[in-house]
Amino acid sequence: MKLHIYDTLRREKVGFEPQNPERVTLYVCGPTVYSFAHIGNARPVVVFDVLFRLLRALYGEHHVIYARNITDVDDKINKAAFDQGVEIDVITNHFADIYNADMATLGALRPTLEPRVTHNIDAILAQIAAILANGHAYAEQGHVLFDVESFKAYGALSRRSLDDMIAGSRVEVAPYKRNPHDFVLWKPSKPGEPAWDSPWGPGRPGWHIECSAMIEANLGLPIDIHGGGHDLIFPHHENEIAQGLCAQHAHGQDSGYARYWMHNGFLTFEGDKMSKSLGNVKLVHDLIEQVPGEVIRAALLSAHYRGPLDWTGELIAQTQSRLDGMYGTLRKFAAVPGRDEAAAPAILEVLCDDLNTPRAFAELSALAKALETAADDEARIAAKSRLLAAGRVLGLLQGDPEAWFRGGVDEDLKAKIDALVAERVAARTAKNWPDADRIRKALDDLGVDVMDSATGATWKLKAAETEDRGLSHGL
Ligand code: AMP
Ligand code: ZN
Repeated sequence: MKLHIYDTLRREKVGFEPQNPERVTLYVCGPTVYSFAHIGNARPVVVFDVLFRLLRALYGEHHVIYARNITDVDDKINKAAFDQGVEIDVITNHFADIYNADMATLGALRPTLEPRVTHNIDAILAQIAAILANGHAYAEQGHVLFDVESFKAYGALSRRSLDDMIAGSRVEVAPYKRNPHDFVLWKPSKPGEPAWDSPWGPGRPGWHIECSAMIEANLGLPIDIHGGGHDLIFPHHENEIAQGLCAQHAHGQDSGYARYWMHNGFLTFEGDKMSKSLGNVKLVHDLIEQVPGEVIRAALLSAHYRGPLDWTGELIAQTQSRLDGMYGTLRKFAAVPGRDEAAAPAILEVLCDDLNTPRAFAELSALAKALETAADDEARIAAKSRLLAAGRVLGLLQGDPEAWFRGGVDEDLKAKIDALVAERVAARTAKNWPDADRIRKALDDLGVDVMDSATGATWKLKAAETEDRGLSHGL
């Protein structure tokens, strides 16, 4: 079975050949952690989680390295830290934790590596120095800029020529730039902002260099697959290629930076682009209070990843009833033992066709039907095993069918946890630390993770961080 993916660079569906089948590498641009992720941000997370699961099924669990970075250096982070009068890591740790908890609720496995910018400053400085040494950048007024005219292949990914870019330019013309499209590798920090020492003065990295340096340092070049939303093709990924290649060779030509590029389409909300000005930005953190994480995940996978996806109440309702149907079948045949099958060939086959998740759902329905209509016990065992194995590759149907219809957690347990969390918030507000600690321990014993926030606390069952369907609650 061979994976075919649509490669953005070649603009066609191509057969995927990893450089080393025992070390398949995948990198996806991760969140900038200054606020909550919205449902559009969750689309690449869930889509590339399915790719991660598929690669693991094809090449073996320990042969796939998936890195998703955490951008913890950024102007918006600086602003949030300044507004709240705290250090940036108070903001970034807080939102990185929430991000990971929310994405776990959507059934996303933790990537193998989660490199942070603040832990990779040396790698970033080294890559900038290499680009400078190779004659593809210049230092000016405390900035280091990439010289786009020095790199002939600039624009290859987005299929733009530098001349067209200049003609239609709306890029800020700064006195330290030779060409308006030259982009920042390093820039001075403003007074009071976090700064790192560098040969070009104290400052901080530009956004694009963060990814290319973390890729080189954490995965090694070239990587197999680089992913992200299609808005990142230009300038972010175009600039990553320029940096990654020009750091390696004076002519920016070598075996490559990323061997395949995959980009997900955009999610709209009831037909509109999600935007603050329209007031229609839906946060994952809020949605998981209302809709089971698994329903959100399945809805995100209902359309092919490259196309648009419109988020509506109807989509959620349809997806809920689709999953209810399949969990209903699993509940009906709860007594039938499932065999641990390595994978379900039919589902792998449709996913190998450029992650065709809409067809994967059709396949799931067919497998559920096969279970319903199986003639004898042996056929039922085989059908149930296939259905569960197919669900596993998609990150679906792994929960307890009884619990699915109960809403994921025993009502008494939920009431008890809510009461304990409220008690603990009260103890913390009263600065009664011994009580707060005692209650945390009790919650811990119940298998509950509590996440404190400025406005109270949220909780989540620890099992939700594994592949199980999770449940989380705010207070
Ligand atoms: P950002 O925090 O804006 O850099 O976005 C993080 C990730 O979410 C990137 O891969 C974006 O391409 C992706 N993304 C942002 N908005 C949407 C959207 N509405 N639909 C799909 N993907 C999105
Ligand atoms: Zn990136």
